[in-house]
Amino acid sequence: MSKTKILVVEDEEAIATLLEYNLKKEKFSVTVATDGEEALLNVEESAPDLIILDWMLPRVSGIEVCRRLRAKSETANIPIIMLTARSEEADRVRGLETGADDYLTKPFSTVELIARVRAVLRRIRPGLADDRVVVGNIVIDRASHRVTREDKEIHLGPTEYRLLDHFIQHPGRVFSREQLLNAVWGTDVFVEIRTVDVHIGRLRKALNKYNQGDPIRTVRSAGYSLDAN
Ligand code: CA
Repeated sequence: MSKTKILVVEDEEAIATLLEYNLKKEKFSVTVATDGEEALLNVEESAPDLIILDWMLPRVSGIEVCRRLRAKSETANIPIIMLTARSEEADRVRGLETGADDYLTKPFSTVELIARVRAVLRRIRPGLADDRVVVGNIVIDRASHRVTREDKEIHLGPTEYRLLDHFIQHPGRVFSREQLLNAVWGTDVFVEIRTVDVHIGRLRKALNKYNQGDPIRTVRSAGYSLDAN
């Protein structure tokens, strides 16, 4: 199962290390950026699933990073939790106005931070935070890798499972073959684009084993999406 990627943007080394350690302990994949510019480059290279963003940063401030990410359609929906030493209500409001999804005032407990991370993920990307995910009549137990549809067991190969896992994180969203390749096979392997079609075919067949309907939609010249409702 691919891990949820969190980008931590924090220039105070002690806090960055503490966040990295605790998030990794919770099985998140963590990248640390120490200033706003590095954070923006990092997001451009590989979009994280969530960003923990410090307010006061060298070069480009947290507020500015947030504003720039929200201004671009490709990054506008990445969940952001702002960290700040300021506790004034006015700043809190300003932070939320720039588009942060949640707000945490330093000093905070790691337990509280992890709870906020899970809450934001659950609200924005339900497929990421929970072990058991329901999309229409399909239920995926991510802890045991068991998939059922209307209580009937669906057997999937590892690649088909990863494809389904990727789709359930973004129900209804259309993915190109290239995007699926990068997400499921990774960017560092060479796989022919039609391999995606082969595995989509297998996933379709497995999901429709009991004639419950084909939940995968082919979008001409665009790609595929999961529509289980
Ligand atoms: Ca700082």
